[in-house]
Amino acid sequence: MHLALKRTTLLGLVALFISMYLLPVTAQDGGNPTMPTPAVLATSTPIPRPQPAAVLSQNGTTLEVYFTSLAQGNTGLLHVTGANIAGAKSSFLDNLVDFFPMPDDGFYGLVSVSMEQTARNYNLDVLVWYEDGTRQTISTKVDVTIGTFIKQVVTLAPDKAYLADPEIERNEFAKLEAIFSTFTPERLWDSSGFQLPIPGGELTSPFGAFRNFNGTMDTRHTGWDIKATLGQPVMASASGTVAYTGLMDIRGNIVVVNHGMGVFSTYNHFSQTHVTRGQSISAGQVLGVVGNTGRTSGPHFHWEIIVNGNFVDSIQFLQMWKP
Ligand SMILES: [Zn+2]
Repeated sequence: MHLALKRTTLLGLVALFISMYLLPVTAQDGGNPTMPTPAVLATSTPIPRPQPAAVLSQNGTTLEVYFTSLAQGNTGLLHVTGANIAGAKSSFLDNLVDFFPMPDDGFYGLVSVSMEQTARNYNLDVLVWYEDGTRQTISTKVDVTIGTFIKQVVTLAPDKAYLADPEIERNEFAKLEAIFSTFTPERLWDSSGFQLPIPGGELTSPFGAFRNFNGTMDTRHTGWDIKATLGQPVMASASGTVAYTGLMDIRGNIVVVNHGMGVFSTYNHFSQTHVTRGQSISAGQVLGVVGNTGRTSGPHFHWEIIVNGNFVDSIQFLQMWKP
């Protein structure tokens, strides 16, 4: 769906054929995968720092914008540089978000768009304040565009059918929202950045899919599914601290990692978890093993990234250059 995904090669088609017809099907919470092409991402090479898409200068301060527009469910990066800056924050889509300082490299800020945000042009204001107490606002406009989301029909086994319940889902979102509302005003990820929790893992069900469960309940897919086998270890995408671990109705045994600056990642449906709340973890540390707990139609791994309270496309986030 996104530019992130490589075009199918002949080899890919052969592999797809083999995986679909000859190997046992790995079930997902997506049930019937209508994803056009499973994709394997190469994440071992560092992402080169891109040129900003726009540079705005005002009274000696420069705002670099690293995106031309933002699709529903996408994340964007902003950078402010200049003399004697004490701090900065963005105001975008009713979110006020603090920037974080980088040594000798000004201040960076992340903006995110909910998958349900109406596509149109919005104001983006960046408030910058200085050591002498003065402040100024640099303003621009951002186009939010419609995301490319597929439709999926999911059939749950009778013993899990009760989980196709909007109230159970609402309660779980409220619980998650409380976890994500903690804003840690520093960057907890390190220079190794973010990686897939299952290196070389094949992506199956995409972020943002419109889903119908058992013909009764409509919802959205808030993460990406990665093909995995029962008991396979799952690693932290980046360093941070464990914000939550426990059992949830839909996500099953879950680990939530706080990466700082409003970024969280979640790891779901585990059979066992190997970390405790409050623990500091490093990038690549094993958090748990693949299971079949929660609202699943078989063992698989569901991975989410949250930026400023919005579930975002974790693959787009992974492939975006970040300081
Ligand atoms: Zn999923």
